[in-house]
Amino acid sequence: MELLEERIRQDGLVLPGNVLKVNQFLNHQIDPQLMYAIGQEFARLFAPEKITKILTVEASGIAPAIMAGLVLNVPVVFARKKKPSTLNDDVYTAEVYSYTKQVTNTISVDQKFLSATDHVLVIDDFLANGQAVNGLLEICRQAQVQIVGVGIVVEKSFQEGAKLIKDQGVRLESLARIASFEGDKVHFVGETDE
Ligand code: 5GP
Repeated sequence: MELLEERIRQDGLVLPGNVLKVNQFLNHQIDPQLMYAIGQEFARLFAPEKITKILTVEASGIAPAIMAGLVLNVPVVFARKKKPSTLNDDVYTAEVYSYTKQVTNTISVDQKFLSATDHVLVIDDFLANGQAVNGLLEICRQAQVQIVGVGIVVEKSFQEGAKLIKDQGVRLESLARIASFEGDKVHFVGETDE
């Protein structure tokens, strides 16, 4: 997605450890126009599929997921990283290890928000080693929903996540695919040298 790649080139900050900081428009301050365009693009890509629900994980997946939900006119469910006191025991859970934060979170979704009749599109902001998405897919399997596919805003294609998802036979669509970082420069998959 050209608009997104341009924005990453303009505002993305490459941090040590192959981490891209995008808190100008996605992870802290949010650009609603860009998020809406992202939602439209996810809707276009998955348009022929039946989708009844979108599943993401808090916090940064919520902005793109809610815009896709708006365009597709379906509810958006986000997995919680900490179990709130108001959440009862009827939850689906999965363990997610975060390489960026080096902690394991148990993510959970109230069972009443996912059922076997649902056709679910999973959305997240980043795909790195695939642990977050894998946890969401694990929850989908527990709920016995139809997994329509996975939509990612920024895929770091040099890490294992994409393979991990595709090896499970799950359709993956990433709007920006990063091939490598070189100093403070971002190289996208398929880009030609200027
Ligand atoms: P994974 O589970 O695929 O290894 O990592 C995905 C999660 O880690 C995303 O939900 C995102 O929050 C975080 N993450 C991974 N890599 C990056 C990165 O380069 N930049 C940012 N901002 N977050 C990242």
